[in-house]
Amino acid sequence: MIIVMRAEATAAQRDGVREQVEASGGRSYAARDGNRTVLGCLGDTDALSEDNVEALPGVESVTRWRTPYRLASRELAPPGGRTVVRIGDGPAASVGGPALLVVAGPCSVEGPEMLLATARGVARAGAAALRGGAFKPRTSPYAFQGLGLDALRWLAEVRRVTGLPVVTEVLDPRQVELVAAHADVLQVGARSMQNFPLLAEVGRVRRPVLLKRAMSATVTELLLAAEYVLARGNPDVILCERGIRTFEPATRNTLDIAAIPVLRGETHLPVIVDPSHAGGRADLVAPLAYAAIAAGADGLLVEVHPRPETALSDGEQSLSLDGFTELMRGLAPFAAAAGRTLVPQPKALPEVHALKGRLGPTCVLEDAPAAEAV
Ligand code: PEP
Ligand code: MN
Repeated sequence: MIIVMRAEATAAQRDGVREQVEASGGRSYAARDGNRTVLGCLGDTDALSEDNVEALPGVESVTRWRTPYRLASRELAPPGGRTVVRIGDGPAASVGGPALLVVAGPCSVEGPEMLLATARGVARAGAAALRGGAFKPRTSPYAFQGLGLDALRWLAEVRRVTGLPVVTEVLDPRQVELVAAHADVLQVGARSMQNFPLLAEVGRVRRPVLLKRAMSATVTELLLAAEYVLARGNPDVILCERGIRTFEPATRNTLDIAAIPVLRGETHLPVIVDPSHAGGRADLVAPLAYAAIAAGADGLLVEVHPRPETALSDGEQSLSLDGFTELMRGLAPFAAAAGRTLVPQPKALPEVHALKGRLGPTCVLEDAPAAEAV
């Protein structure tokens, strides 16, 4: 239930109401709506009758939840109306505010050199965070499964060198701690959206979660998946529309553009779009990205590879570094039309000292200067 306190209700009255909710086995979350306090009650509040709560001093109105998700719903928005998720601990990136967040990088981390080259290229073009899969959820057990721990180490090392926060997928609840120790954002992929033990586990760590919509999930199911993470205490959930499966075979998936304004109406959480998995083709990435921003998305997740034709996964939908630079150039008028800003183009990065010798799987990029400003 949602309890709206009167504008003139005192703090003692508000606390009295919260005590009643807790005494009956529920939990309450306070939010502000103008000059009123709104208490969202979760848990088993069946023992509380609406009439009894309405009779408590300071209470203006009591309503049942409109939606099955609660913490994710607009009714429990933080002050300002929208959740802004900070990415990384630098001055860095955030998503959900006026600036668009662009995360770019390879589908899979294939080695330290290609990762560093991609990171430097996408940062130069205006990306604020690097993506790269270490543990890959592949439909076929015979397909490339990712380089695991080595890839995580390279991600952490490239972050140290470039200052770019990194986003990578976690597949297994038992690896949440490990991935969180190397990455700034934990991606929960489309195939894992309803892996409830995984959602609970990422809800326990202090890392933002990028939650991708499953290919056959409704908007409500996506928001309920987010609710699992929020209910475990992690408030930093970023939703990602990445296309859903329809009858149309011309594209890998069908980008559900309407889901963007629908989600923005339903939830205070940031919504980003992955045009790479949506279209499944490099030539569709820019038009889908622009449509997403025009429809109100808070950012983009884009696959970029220094040599897409050699990529070990998703090469056909990956942009080259030049292709990504072009995408970013074309984004500006769409961002402006949507009333959004782009992270300012960073000044040219100093050349990283040539990597010494051949890099082994656990090698660090020793010659690279630490944390260049990007
Ligand atoms: C990915 O981001 O590389 C990925 C596997 O995406 P999805 O879970 O959306 O298929
Ligand atoms: Mn991919």
